[in-house]
Amino acid sequence: MSLLEVRGLTTAFRTERGEINAVEDITFDIDEGEILGIVGESGSGKSVTALTIMGLLPQPPARVAAGSVRFRGETLTGMSEPRLERIRGSGISMVFQEPMTSLNPVFTIGEQIMETVRAHEKATPRELRDRAVEMLDKVGIPSAAKRLGDYPHQLSGGQRQRVMLAIALACRPKLLIADEPTTALDVTIQAQVLDLLMDLRDEFGMAVMIITHNMGVVAETADRVLVMYAGRIVEQAPVVRLFERPEHPYTRGLLECVPTLEQDTERLAAIPGSLPEPGRRPPGCRFAPRCRWRIDACRTGLPPLVEQEPGHASACIRAAEIAAQIGAA
Ligand code: ADP
Ligand code: MG
Repeated sequence: MSLLEVRGLTTAFRTERGEINAVEDITFDIDEGEILGIVGESGSGKSVTALTIMGLLPQPPARVAAGSVRFRGETLTGMSEPRLERIRGSGISMVFQEPMTSLNPVFTIGEQIMETVRAHEKATPRELRDRAVEMLDKVGIPSAAKRLGDYPHQLSGGQRQRVMLAIALACRPKLLIADEPTTALDVTIQAQVLDLLMDLRDEFGMAVMIITHNMGVVAETADRVLVMYAGRIVEQAPVVRLFERPEHPYTRGLLECVPTLEQDTERLAAIPGSLPEPGRRPPGCRFAPRCRWRIDACRTGLPPLVEQEPGHASACIRAAEIAAQIGAA
């Protein structure tokens, strides 16, 4: 049994144009201590996947239309809010992209860490304070004990992201979901936060699901990678394999424009065209309109995710051909 088991997960939103599937038929596992990277352009469904796992999407307009999420053998989809509350924080916790919007400006950072612990564990005030200092220290905030009384606005962007991590890690979750945890940070701080995530994985043995639009971040952190496009998984593989033998033309496009950490950009310029909105997806393969390898057959029906090698699957009818070409190159 894996730590997290996601099976056929489909999340739909009610919109003016009817119900649309933001993510569709998502299946993957995360093992204990594993770092899974989820990569794809903005709008591909990464955050919706994460928020569905956490049970944090407002329903309605969102609805889990199909599939399930199991965490340590317990089914989370359809679970009551009080039980989910208990799992959030102590079992799975999440850090968001914008640290300023997720920290409460009117409470000190010490109070915010202690509140998280108090919600999940019986602890004396002294123990709560010690834990807050310990966590700030772990995430690399200098003179942690003296910073407990600071308010979020007194910290730099990098420090606020570290405080968010301290809160997310305060109850020692088995799985941390980090949604674009470095996007808002400058490059030196980005690298430090990624190093920190990997150190914390080593120290606590926690698994990490790291969401990013940046293949460079994936290369540096992940054990295994899921590539998402227009709401679906188009390729999944161990990280080395994905970089050596990418099979899906979309993955190849992403790899041709890996931004270095220094020139991180939202736009992945090497792939012409843009991601279709959920209501405007083409028939057949959703990537076909942008694909150099497109043939007529690509327009007829969604290509299934097929495992070519154990652990390496891709959703392209020409995957074998493409892989052979790379092998020969
Ligand atoms: P990513 O995190 O990969 O950038 P998201 O998961 O945020 O992408 O979004 C996936 C798709 O779901 C997008 O097309 C977005 O427009 C749609 N979506 C997200 N939230 C909502 C919502 N509240 N209502 C309608 N559509 C939404
Ligand atoms: Mg997102």
